[in-house]
This record gives sequence, structure tokens and C-alpha cells, in this order.
Amino acid sequence: MKKKEENAHESRLTRDIREFLSKALKRKDWYFFNNPELCKCWEVMNCGNTRCPSYKSQNLRCWQVAGTFSRGEPRCDFVKKIGDCRKCTVYRKATDGNIILQIGEDFNNLMFQLKSREDELRMNIDDVEKKNRELLAINKKINRLLRSLDARNRQLKELSMKDELTGMYNYRFFRKILQEQYKLAKRYKFPLSCIMIDIDYFKAVNDTYGHQFGDAVLKQLAEILKSNVRDTDKVVRYGGEEFAILFPYTDYEAAYRKAERLRKLVSNYSFLIKGRAVGITISLGIAAYPENKKVTRAGRLLNYADEALYQAKERGRNQTVIYDNGLVAKATGKKSPDIRAVSDRRRQPRVRTLIGVKGEMNKEDLSFVNAVDISFSGISVLSRKPVDCHKILKVTLYLPDIGDGRPQRAKKSGDEAGAGDAAPEKKIELEGVAVWCKKIDDSPGWVPESGRGAGENYLAGIRFTNVSVKDKIYLQKYFVSIFKRNTREG
Ligand code: GH3
Ligand code: MG
Ligand code: MG
Repeated sequence: MKKKEENAHESRLTRDIREFLSKALKRKDWYFFNNPELCKCWEVMNCGNTRCPSYKSQNLRCWQVAGTFSRGEPRCDFVKKIGDCRKCTVYRKATDGNIILQIGEDFNNLMFQLKSREDELRMNIDDVEKKNRELLAINKKINRLLRSLDARNRQLKELSMKDELTGMYNYRFFRKILQEQYKLAKRYKFPLSCIMIDIDYFKAVNDTYGHQFGDAVLKQLAEILKSNVRDTDKVVRYGGEEFAILFPYTDYEAAYRKAERLRKLVSNYSFLIKGRAVGITISLGIAAYPENKKVTRAGRLLNYADEALYQAKERGRNQTVIYDNGLVAKATGKKSPDIRAVSDRRRQPRVRTLIGVKGEMNKEDLSFVNAVDISFSGISVLSRKPVDCHKILKVTLYLPDIGDGRPQRAKKSGDEAGAGDAAPEKKIELEGVAVWCKKIDDSPGWVPESGRGAGENYLAGIRFTNVSVKDKIYLQKYFVSIFKRNTREG
């Protein structure tokens, strides 16, 4: 009897399940066991819960659907609830103690679970592909941004090397090109010259005509410089009213000729601005490699050109000075055959004097000892303290009373100073700025009066910036009186 039952099961398993399994294997899509006993949960349970996903659904098995209701209670997902669902009337009715139907539904459950996993995986793959596409788009965007950042950076770098007012390259560019050219000059043994240019008394141009006018002068000067050098010569606005030019393959003599040509060009040029014609002059300093043996680094070429420019200013402006050891010779008082300065005939004449002078800056006494020479537009003073350049000073000059303009004889014996230093004093108060100041301890020439104590001594050049017309006339008379006396005596 038992044997008979076993045979019947076996034949049903072979017929229903194995046949179904071999069909399922051949199919590419999902294949489910068709259960003829499958019943509807809402009918079996007499349930009217319309919110339940399996309510009135034709194909869904209620135990496979996550969140379906069981006796009015929402349930969790398939895997977690299947154990409970097997005990439920709906499931039991559908399988009805029949092993074939039970295996068939187990198979269906397994298929359902695999299909869910596949759907989940597909969703994940879709998600990954979507993310990948998004990442690619972001990557493209970043690449675009990087390219534009790169272009912007190059633009900014270029801008940082350009001067806004004149459109010329600035000192940053100059320093870079100077390094490059110096290395090349050293390696391939060609001469390299550098010219520093500064406009003379440019502050006065601004003070007289206004800053905008000054700007227009700077622009025009930039044009003159640019259009009068070769493309291979690098001209920049070094700062303020200073320009610099680098001449590759140019020795100091050629640089000097070029500098003088530029200087003359500028001094003969009428700067036409807002219907006014104004003339300016420039001072130029030259340093050259390899003539100047002290130029052992690129920066020194610039420093020495600057020192030569300073000399050009000190010697009266509107001139070109070539830097060489002459500067040292000058400081020690020995004349150097090397010194190559070309003075302009129009430089301001000065006369020696020893008049009393007092300087004040912000009510602080500047410890001036006396004035040592004087011109129409300024004085050189001896000072116990270094004098801050380019700041407004209050200057009081104690001049002798020249009466009718003829120089008075000094009463002090051995007085080497100008006319009438011991005569009654005339006090002139004016404003000025120190344009240079140097320590003169070991230099010859003017020394402080004896008895005033030792210590550091400085010589400073002060340019008058604000003198009343009356005082200007007096100063001129005084200047002329000493000048006449000196020429009569000398
Ligand atoms: P020096 O002969 O000794 O060089 O006399 P200076 O007046 O030219 O020299 P100083 O250094 O006393 O004054 C320089 C002036 O240049 C002061 C400043 O107002 C002017 N300056 C500098 N940069 C600019 C600029 O961009 N525009 C204008 N308009 N003026 C400028
Ligand atoms: Mg300057
Ligand atoms: Mg200047």
C-alpha cells in the first residue's frame, strides 16, 4: 500500500514538477508554476480592505507582496513573513496538503525571491549607470571650468605684469625679463644695458596742472619711449614716474647714445594736453654688463642704473649718467678718470653759502646745521640727523640783509661763506621737500662747524615747494649778489 502511494507521488512529481522544471529551464524569461487551487485572499478571508495591494489583484499571491495585510495588520516583506503566511488559511487552501502544490508554490516563492533580487540588482545597475552619466557630465564641466580657470589665470598673470595707466609692462615683467636676459648675456657673452628713467620735477606738473594732466603726460611719454626703441628692447613703467629699458646686445656706449636720443626727444617734445603745451625733461641712469665688473647678478644691473639715475638727479637733472666706479671715487673725493656724466648746459647753477637754516617736520626740529649751497629752486643742508625724503618740511632761512642788492662784507674773519653772512638777518619761511639725503662722515667738503659736537653728519638736498613771490625775489637777489661776488673774486 505504502509502495503504491510512493509510486503515485513519484509519477506526479515526474509529470507535474519535473516537466515544469525542464520547461522553466528552457525559458529565457521567468516561469511560474500554475497552481489550479490558487484562491483569492479577499474571498477566503472575506476582507474588504481596499487599501491592501493584493485586494482584487488577479496575479498577486498575497504572501509574496511586502506590506500586505493579514487580519487587518500590515505585514513586513516576503522573506520575513513567509513562515507566518504558510500557516495562514489562504496559503493552506491554495496548497491543500498536496505535496505537488506545496513544492510548486515553494518553487514560485523561490522564483519570486530571485526575481526580486534581479529587479533590485537591475535598479542598482541603472542607478550606477545614471550616477556614472552624472559623473561624466560633472567631469566634463570641471574640465571646462579648469580650462577657463587656466585661461583666466594666464590673463591675470598677464594683467599683473601690465601697468593699467599706460598699458605697458610693469616692474614684475621687467624683473623676470631681466633675469632671463642676464642669464643669456652671461652664457652667450653679449652685452646687456639697462636704463632707468625718471621725470624731472614731475610733482610740480601734478601740482600745477592736476593729477589727471600728469597721467596724460605719463601716457604720452610711455608712447614716445615705446615707439623709439626696437621691439627687442624691453621698455616698462617701473613705477610712478619712472620707466626702465633693457637693451640686449647693447654696450654702454650704444646705450648712452640711445639714452641721449630719448632725453633730447623728450626735452624738445611739446606734450599737448587739454589745449595746453607742456615741456618736461627726464633724467637717465645707465648700467651695463659686462663693462661694469660689479654686475654679478641681474638685480645689480638695475641697482646700478638706479644709482646712476640718482647721480643724474644730483648733478642737476635732464642728463644721462653711466654708472661706474666713478660713484665711489666721488664719495672719497678723488676724481676718477672713469666717470662719464654728461651734463646738460641748462642744469641749475648753485652757489656756495653758509647761511643759517632751520628745518621742521611735524613741529620736530630736524637738527639742520646750516645750508651749504643754494640755487633758485633749492638748497643743500648739513644735518645732524638723516632727513626723510619726499615729505613736506618747514624751512626757515636766515639770510643776511642785502639791502640794495649789493653783497655786504662779512664781519667775521675767515668766513668763507657767501656775502654778508654776519650782516643783519632776514628770515624767510618756506616749504620744501628733501629729494636726497646721504651720510657724509668720510667725505670731503662741507663739515659741520667746529664745537657743535661730533657724530653723524648728513647732506640733504631740499627743493623749495612753496615760496611767496616776495621771498622768491629776495632769494633771487641774494643768489645773484653772491654769484656776482664770486665771479668778481674768482
Ligand atoms: P625729481 O626730479 O627729483 O624726480 O622730482 P619729482 O617731483 O619728479 O619727484 P618726486 O619723487 O618728488 O615726485 C614724484 C611725483 O610723481 C609725485 C607723484 O605725485 C607723481 N606720480 C607718481 N605716479 C604718478 C601717476 O601715476 N600719475 C600722476 N599724475 N603722478 C604720479
Ligand atoms: Mg621718482
Ligand atoms: Mg621724478
